[in-house]
Amino acid sequence: MTDAVRPLIAGNWKMNGLKTSITEFEAMLRGAPEVTGKADLLVCPPVTLLAGFAAKASSFGQEGKHAVTVGAQDCHPKASGAHTGDISAEMLADAGATAIIVGHSERRADHGESDAVVREKALAAWRAGLTAIVCIGETQAERDAGKTLDVCGAQLKGSLPDDCTSGNLIVAYEPVWAIGTGLTPTAQDVEQVHKFIREHLNQRFKNEGPSIKILYGGSVKPSNAKELMAVPNVNGALVGGASLKAADFLAIAAGC
Ligand code: PGA
Repeated sequence: MTDAVRPLIAGNWKMNGLKTSITEFEAMLRGAPEVTGKADLLVCPPVTLLAGFAAKASSFGQEGKHAVTVGAQDCHPKASGAHTGDISAEMLADAGATAIIVGHSERRADHGESDAVVREKALAAWRAGLTAIVCIGETQAERDAGKTLDVCGAQLKGSLPDDCTSGNLIVAYEPVWAIGTGLTPTAQDVEQVHKFIREHLNQRFKNEGPSIKILYGGSVKPSNAKELMAVPNVNGALVGGASLKAADFLAIAAGC
């Protein structure tokens, strides 16, 4: 890790995990002290498991500091009301979440979430006192057309609220074509996009810009983590598939 910004390894469990998965989470909690010298750890399980995981993490906490914190994968923009099936940021905070992933490409694609919606959700996370992890990234077609930076720039412009700080925002760059495919961009490609994101953050959020974390996501695994985490302006990873196994998740953090 090349920067002074403390790295974060965040696990996005997506729609995976049953009550029995608590044993895998316990293994993460047990192994965390060996890697938290290098990176903070955040696990975002499905909402059904969130409160149980948060309670378990608390019971492992030492001196009021948890080795692993727990987050959510989405929220509704509103605090409460007639929105069947939806969950508010306030409810997620109440269940023990410290952060919420918003604007993941799977939600943008499956639920038609626009940049404006993602921005509303980031504001909802803030309203509940939580950190918003805002995801951006280009599709394969957009990359092939040479539009990676244009797409990422437009998503940053539209999805990030004003007043972002290192305390309330984390950006995750996740090329859509790299998610769940085993494909990753080259270190040079990652460096170019992360530099572009950093410049956007510096320009827009002034003094806060340099310390806002920028995570890379998309097929991060123990075998490629070290190289990706060494890229300038990569301050950690958002990990999908490899975050489901404690050994892999901890090995990725060890690579920071
Ligand atoms: P992956 O997913 O690590 O399984 O590619 C990353 C993500 O979608 O956050």
